[in-house]
Amino acid sequence: MSRPIQAHIDLSALQNNLRVARRLASGRIMAVVKANAYGHGLLRAAEALGEAEGFALLDVRDAVALREAGFRQTILLLEGFFSADELPLLAEYELSTVVHCSQQLAMLDAFPRRKTLPVWLKINTGMNRLGFAPEQVPAVMEKLKAHAAVGEVTLMTHFSHADEPEGVAEQLERFKGLTAQYRAPRSLANSAALLRYPASHGEWVRPGIMLYGASPFADTSAQQFGLLPVMTLSSEIISVRDLKAGECVGYAGLFRAARPMRVGTVTCGYADGYPRHAQTGTPILVDGQRTRTLGRVSMDMLSVDLSELPNAGIGSRVTLWGAGLPVEEVASAAGTISYELMCALAGRVPVKY
Ligand SMILES: *Cc1c(COP(=O)(O)O)cnc(C)c1O
Repeated sequence: MSRPIQAHIDLSALQNNLRVARRLASGRIMAVVKANAYGHGLLRAAEALGEAEGFALLDVRDAVALREAGFRQTILLLEGFFSADELPLLAEYELSTVVHCSQQLAMLDAFPRRKTLPVWLKINTGMNRLGFAPEQVPAVMEKLKAHAAVGEVTLMTHFSHADEPEGVAEQLERFKGLTAQYRAPRSLANSAALLRYPASHGEWVRPGIMLYGASPFADTSAQQFGLLPVMTLSSEIISVRDLKAGECVGYAGLFRAARPMRVGTVTCGYADGYPRHAQTGTPILVDGQRTRTLGRVSMDMLSVDLSELPNAGIGSRVTLWGAGLPVEEVASAAGTISYELMCALAGRVPVKY
């Protein structure tokens, strides 16, 4: 028998979440599958998301893998190409590329192929991460439209506050002002903007996190949007003991029992992708019942409070996050976001679809 930890990926939940996006979105759907589909497995996730009109990711090798697996949709490289050597590959595999800086424009000039590359022109409207400055847009548009190697141009930006109370208004207005004169498809919305700001949808929406069943908002749960959790990380209790008042659990004795209590050890730790910064009190399910973690998470194990669960023991099933326990709650107890937990699922955890 191997270690009883496992990630279960519910592909029908992924399909449900794509339908939620479809119902809300006015544009075509570019499913964001970067970072191994947020830790869910690129090819399996893409298969379940096969109704999407496009896929967005970063690594050209992953893009090629999608094409070779038979996906005919638009495939977009979100950071574009990094050197001119990649351009023939992009053309050969009919990949779409973001162009976000003048260095990339110069690399394009060295590429002789005709009208082969669909380009997504990234405009910086306030995120200040990637994209051309507003004042560069007219000249870049002119250059792209006249460029022999460039096919269709899509206008794109990315929001910095779509999941926050500030929203998208300022960036949306700036983008509209900059692009009003062009006849070109537009793409702005991540999950948060897709869910909350229909005016930002344009011709292509780019949902990521919502497809994987997590809410981008602190004030609205995934369930309230009809989203279902896709990844469930589960394991088992492999040891149980009674603590006397004053005894501690785990490294540095971070948790000390104020009274006698019953403690279980779960075989799941930070080397599995469980966040080490999860505090005592992080929610966790044992035999489907909610309880809390105790003390410091170690590499391969963590401790749980079984004081109120007299029937739990060695072999009891434990849910770290997923079905019955939103990943957002665990992330928040660890001072992070659901995205990071999903992406950090470790390679040593067996995945079952
Ligand atoms: C990651 C990413 C998205 C998806 O964001 P979510 O918050 O996961 O929906 C959309 N657009 C770009 C440019 C991204 O990098």
